[in-house]
Amino acid sequence: MNIVLMGPPGAGKGTQAVRIAETYGIPHISTGDIFRATVKAGTALGAQLQQYMSQGLLVPDEITIQIVHDRLQQPDCASGFLLDGFPRTIEQAIALDKTLGAKPIDLVISIEVPDEELIKRLTGRRVCQNCGATFHIHFNPPQAEGICDQCGQELHQRVDDTITTVKNRLEVYNRQTEPLIAYYREQEKLVSIDGSQAIDQVFQDITRHLGVRQ
Ligand code: ADP
Ligand code: ADP
Ligand code: ZN
Repeated sequence: MNIVLMGPPGAGKGTQAVRIAETYGIPHISTGDIFRATVKAGTALGAQLQQYMSQGLLVPDEITIQIVHDRLQQPDCASGFLLDGFPRTIEQAIALDKTLGAKPIDLVISIEVPDEELIKRLTGRRVCQNCGATFHIHFNPPQAEGICDQCGQELHQRVDDTITTVKNRLEVYNRQTEPLIAYYREQEKLVSIDGSQAIDQVFQDITRHLGVRQ
């Protein structure tokens, strides 16, 4: 199964992606995670990426497309993968189709959540920089405040999860990424999921479309 997970920032893509990847045994490829790791590595490319990410702007297509193209050549993607946060522009979607050739995307899952809810989710999001786990101060709190349940390290707020940057990111989503919904609907690959439900319920709805594990 080659799957794309779409949705605005804060829709729950990362949260659901971890579960889908585990249940179906496919790699979870998040361009946001790849970019954050590059920033952390402190390379010249990382410094360039940070300029865009800290403002809530998209990283230029040529950089993004190349990184995903290379990642999809890795052997673990041969029997399927889950893309989270890519494609985000029509140019990226066209490039992805070209990269995949005869083994195209099977399904695009679009997680939909109203903007007011997204703002609450993003400003209350806390992440573990050590193991990547994601929490929410109210909606998905860790057992001990500020501490990762999985690895015991301290939780952090992402630098782009501030109210001003969040509003930019939602605007960027509506302008640059939303048009992809029509693109995939025309290809009859799109399923829409009500992402305003509880985390477990959203996952159940997704698995209904993916079926039982082969
Ligand atoms: P969220 O989880 O809030 O949707 P991500 O972690 O997916 O955010 O992305 C964080 C940032 O990384 C984006 O705001 C953008 O700057 C950059 N980014 C991630 N994926 C892409 C992409 N496909 N194209 C361009 N920029 C991207
Ligand atoms: P995305 O990857 O789409 O940006 P995340 O998976 O990081 O979104 O989720 C954004 C925030 O919302 C996180 O703090 C997460 O714990 C929380 N969250 C995710 N799904 C739900 C849900 N169904 N209900 C309430 N909060 C959620
Ligand atoms: Zn952790």
